[in-house]
Amino acid sequence: MREIEERYRREARDGRLMLQQCTDCRHVQAFPRAFCSRCGGREVAWKQASGRGTVAAITTLHRAPTADYRDKVPYVIALVDLAEGVQVMGHAAPDLAIHDPVSAGFALHGERHLLFFDHADRRSA
Ligand SMILES: [Zn+2]
Repeated sequence: MREIEERYRREARDGRLMLQQCTDCRHVQAFPRAFCSRCGGREVAWKQASGRGTVAAITTLHRAPTADYRDKVPYVIALVDLAEGVQVMGHAAPDLAIHDPVSAGFALHGERHLLFFDHADRRSA
């Protein structure tokens, strides 16, 4: 499990949002695990997400979940439907609204690279 998390973080550091796809049933999952969440298969392959998606839900947090987020509040969290058909949650630009097309990137917070969504037309790559 640790290995899987480390791989995900390493890719994030290089700006790549990774998904996993089951080699048996082709199910795509956003939360990295050692097995397929649909069929339980142990063969899951990494797959780079396009980063394209649409905002499904959005909320502004006014209280930090942990001390190291205290300097970030208030901040916006969006639930995004990725083009690959899975939902992921990430930080988001404050002026996004539901149904807006977005593209994924990463924002550095301390030593962590947080998934960050911005307007699709604001990010060129
Ligand atoms: Zn499967």
